[in-house]
Amino acid sequence: MLNFDYENKTRIIFGEDTHKTVGEVLKPHASKVLLHYGGGSIKSTGVYDDVINSLKANNIDFVELGGVKPNPRLSLVNEGIKLCIEENVDFILAVGGGSVIDSAKTIALGAKNEGDVWDFFLTNKDNNGALPTSTILTIPAAGSEASSGAVITNEDKELKLSYGRENLRPIFSIINPKIYFTLPANQIANGVCDMMIHIMERYFTNTKNTELIDGLCESTLKTIMKNALILKEDNKNYEAWSEIALAGTIAHNGLLGIGREQDWASHNIEHELSAIYDVAHGAGLAVVTPAWMTYVYKTNVDMFVQFAINVMGVDVAYRDSDKIALEGIKRLKNFFREMELPLRLEDLNIDDNKLELMAKKATNFESGKENLLGGVKKLNWEDVFAIYKLAL
Ligand code: NAP
Ligand code: FE
Repeated sequence: MLNFDYENKTRIIFGEDTHKTVGEVLKPHASKVLLHYGGGSIKSTGVYDDVINSLKANNIDFVELGGVKPNPRLSLVNEGIKLCIEENVDFILAVGGGSVIDSAKTIALGAKNEGDVWDFFLTNKDNNGALPTSTILTIPAAGSEASSGAVITNEDKELKLSYGRENLRPIFSIINPKIYFTLPANQIANGVCDMMIHIMERYFTNTKNTELIDGLCESTLKTIMKNALILKEDNKNYEAWSEIALAGTIAHNGLLGIGREQDWASHNIEHELSAIYDVAHGAGLAVVTPAWMTYVYKTNVDMFVQFAINVMGVDVAYRDSDKIALEGIKRLKNFFREMELPLRLEDLNIDDNKLELMAKKATNFESGKENLLGGVKKLNWEDVFAIYKLAL
């Protein structure tokens, strides 16, 4: 196990009707709030009215900014920063999924720092502070409700980049599994895939002696798959949603990555798909990750054998390590197929036109300082190109 220094300050308020308490919970922290949300689902589901009523009942002054799109755009972030400064906002409440939360975190950053907020994403420099944020999560998926990161799309440059610091973690997040009953099947599947890959990016490691966290990763992955299949049949199953929502938060709050080298190649490889083709992040990961696994498994076959046996239930009677590892990957793809996720770039209507360009962008090859991706196997642009081709 490696040394680590782990902290997660996000308070999690979980359960039925909890979102109606947001005003009370916010009151000690905020005098003027930016209420930030997406394209309208919160209005049709009634969550918006509940939030407004709770803010008003607690005499909390607020301004609103809706319109966050999936793959949240820098242009709206800049609008939000301007609004926060003009209106003296001192707290941001994000009501939505990863896109709304990441947009809120980036506005929080921009409101407290001079200059162009995009520079943080380009240079990964330290910041001088951020407004506090909190969330009411409307889709369990990205894990941004308790993570320190944000992912933003610069639509003019066709770049999707992430930035993370401890001070971007939300102060509190409210998780009410009933809010997820309105999610369409494709969003459920995308969310399930994203949370699984958040675990797998941490699980697949060359670090030795990681038994405890390995076990937590394995049981979280199995819980997600079991309950996702229940939701496929019954999307209003409160207990199944509770398991999935809790798993999605644990998947990405940092705990499952402590004491080990992490990977994150699949996320970086996927971000190029979202940046150029605007595909949903979870759908892109369903295509990229099995291709990544197939490309790298030989580097650490024992870890992929462990995954196949402990997570995917592959029978040890297969004996041959390569066969066991490949059977594990095959069963993961079968699960994605059952969830009706895309399995190939073709399913996302992506052809081979821009694969080389995306591979070079992913590793920043053209800059002259190529940034190798991954942990299990360090990948240069040619490796990434090969992974895209495997996914065609
Ligand atoms: P999302 O992009 O926030 O939302 C997807 C869609 O779901 C939206 O169209 C939204 O509609 C709809 N929706 C949300 N809640 C709903 C509900 N209760 N009922 C019906 N529809 C609902 O999805 P996400 O997967 O949570 O976030 C994806 C983003 O997070 C990507 O940009 C990804 O790169 C990023 N991400 C961030 C982190 C991190 O730690 N920061 C980690 C991984 C991924 P409306 O717009 O109408 O609300
Ligand atoms: Fe993700």
